[in-house]
Amino acid sequence: MSEPNEAEEFAALATSLKSHLERRQRAGIRCLAKGGAAAPTALAIAKEEPRLAEIGEDRFADHGEAMQALTLDELRGAIGDCQRCKLCAGRTHLVFGVGNPRARLMFVGEGPGRDEDLQGEPFVGRAGQLLTDIITKGIGIQREDVYICNVVKCRPPENRNPEPDEVAACEPFLKKQIDIVRPKIIVGLGKFAVQTLLQSKVPISKLRGNWHSYHGIKLMPTFHPAYLLRNPADKKLVWEDIKKVIKEMQSENI
Ligand code: URA
Repeated sequence: MSEPNEAEEFAALATSLKSHLERRQRAGIRCLAKGGAAAPTALAIAKEEPRLAEIGEDRFADHGEAMQALTLDELRGAIGDCQRCKLCAGRTHLVFGVGNPRARLMFVGEGPGRDEDLQGEPFVGRAGQLLTDIITKGIGIQREDVYICNVVKCRPPENRNPEPDEVAACEPFLKKQIDIVRPKIIVGLGKFAVQTLLQSKVPISKLRGNWHSYHGIKLMPTFHPAYLLRNPADKKLVWEDIKKVIKEMQSENI
């Protein structure tokens, strides 16, 4: 195959940059990140990537580097000072995830709240304390033994539900986290996380308490701890779900 000429190189870069900017526009981002490591200049890329036009690579793709990550640290590094959706404007910290990178049990929530945004760690507020109790007092393991993360990594304003473009921007990172940790069991916390993982619109009240499959990984949907703070009578239902998780862990020697 012949080497692409300079005009082809720049045409490929222009196409790539155009689709990147269109994605940002669709995500509601109206400004470009200021300098820094986020975006190399087109000229710098052109010098580094002589075969760009030939291989048709999208150098401005939003998730490309992250999808190559082999470890959680690499993934976190590739996410960087994320500007992929409009939630970046209001965040204090990007809340990536916490816990054992080889956890057999993983909990997935919706998105950081105020306490999580301030501290940079998922489930550290009142709902988080309840989740910690479920893990330590209910299941009888340490919080550090499991892995905990959310569908979106930045706090939605006023704790509103994440919007579709925000989920679209962030969900690939959740998928990659699951891929890297490879848990045996995922507990989906609340309607939003479960419906996102299962790509389903079925209400959480119908999904909870039954085993589902997330790409071959056992998924137990249950109510969100924040819901339990408002509806403590339903704690007994969550306990039923968690007992199923414990039984599965015992039978699988997890
Ligand atoms: N609710 C969530 O869904 N995630 C958190 O991290 C905190 C509260």
